[in-house]
Amino acid sequence: YAGKQAGTVISERLHKMLVNDYKAVPIVVQENASVYDAIVTLFLEDVGTLYVVNQKGYLAGVVSRKDLLRASLGNKGLEGIPVSIIMTRMPNIVTCAPEESLFMAAKKLIDFQIDSLPVVRPAEEDSRQSELIGRVTKTTIARAFVELGSEPFL
Ligand code: ADP
Repeated sequence: YAGKQAGTVISERLHKMLVNDYKAVPIVVQENASVYDAIVTLFLEDVGTLYVVNQKGYLAGVVSRKDLLRASLGNKGLEGIPVSIIMTRMPNIVTCAPEESLFMAAKKLIDFQIDSLPVVRPAEEDSRQSELIGRVTKTTIARAFVELGSEPFL
């Protein structure tokens, strides 16, 4: 193997894996959707986290499985509670950019102890708003990990 350590080759490959090439489609609900609707969407789309968008379609918040479970405990009438009152909202959302490395995204998942990151870019008409273009989850990272491990390096 032409003078290069196998570890160096793997490391170089790892840091060249970009969010844009591995991101999945984001599953969204509107801000005025009910907690009930969000739970139904979670099952229908088979995801663990939903992104909440405002009327212009920009990222407004995140609702996780546990956010929905918490809201359901001791609450009847989940049709009457909007997700916007239980979501984690901007600017407290940890995001990643499409040109970021998958490694950096994985580090954010670990550091912030969360399951998913919205992939965003600044909206063209208003750079303070985030246009949602994908999602990176622990599944995304596991898939990339397996892909990396399946490559013939030497
Ligand atoms: P769960 O709550 O189902 O274990 P997470 O660990 O992803 O799922 O979420 C933990 C908490 O962090 C939830 O309250 C959720 O709203 C919030 N959260 C999830 N993803 C993000 C994110 N990308 N940025 C900020 N907060 C997040």
